[in-house]
Amino acid sequence: MEVKKKMSLKEQIIPGGTGAAFEIKKGEYLKVTDVEGKQVADFIAICLTNKKEFLSTAHTRTMNGRLTVTKGDKLFSNYRHELFEVVEDTVGVHDTLYPCCDSQRYRLDFNVENHRNCRDNFAQALREYGIDYGYIPDPLNLFQNSPVNSDGTFAAPTEPKSKPGDFVVFQALTDLIIGISSCPQDMTPLCGYNITDIKSEIVQTW
Ligand SMILES: [Zn+2]
Repeated sequence: MEVKKKMSLKEQIIPGGTGAAFEIKKGEYLKVTDVEGKQVADFIAICLTNKKEFLSTAHTRTMNGRLTVTKGDKLFSNYRHELFEVVEDTVGVHDTLYPCCDSQRYRLDFNVENHRNCRDNFAQALREYGIDYGYIPDPLNLFQNSPVNSDGTFAAPTEPKSKPGDFVVFQALTDLIIGISSCPQDMTPLCGYNITDIKSEIVQTW
């Protein structure tokens, strides 16, 4: 029987502003697509067999010697183990510096109560794995365009460079729990003032 290349094992649309959690096995590939473009996807990962080990943006930055990640990079855990390899990246502009947006961010900076936010999205999605709000690791912010100035200050985040259908593909190097949040930040240019869907797919080959 012919085996169809890049057959999708599990495809899901994560509606704009919401989150999802699921598992991926060692060797499988995860494709994350910005369906309509200019949508930030916060991305976290926690080891399935040791929930104290998770994707660490700090360790990833220092191991790669760069502020961002792109094709060919490995992503590292807080124990400095390799968790992923980035095998494709059609954008090349992502953020490793910003934490998840949370209710306090909208309260302090915009005087808005009960705004949807990535941290609550993760806490809700990861509850079934026993991971609660206090334990959500800092995310890799896919498609987020938040440049750093030459003097070390942050430039204001601006619209993502991602166009409709742009994507990133990761190969999992161990068994992992994945969390993805389509960021609901609609009060700055971060997501182009238009919150849209993110698609995730697990594929066997790439
Ligand atoms: Zn967010």
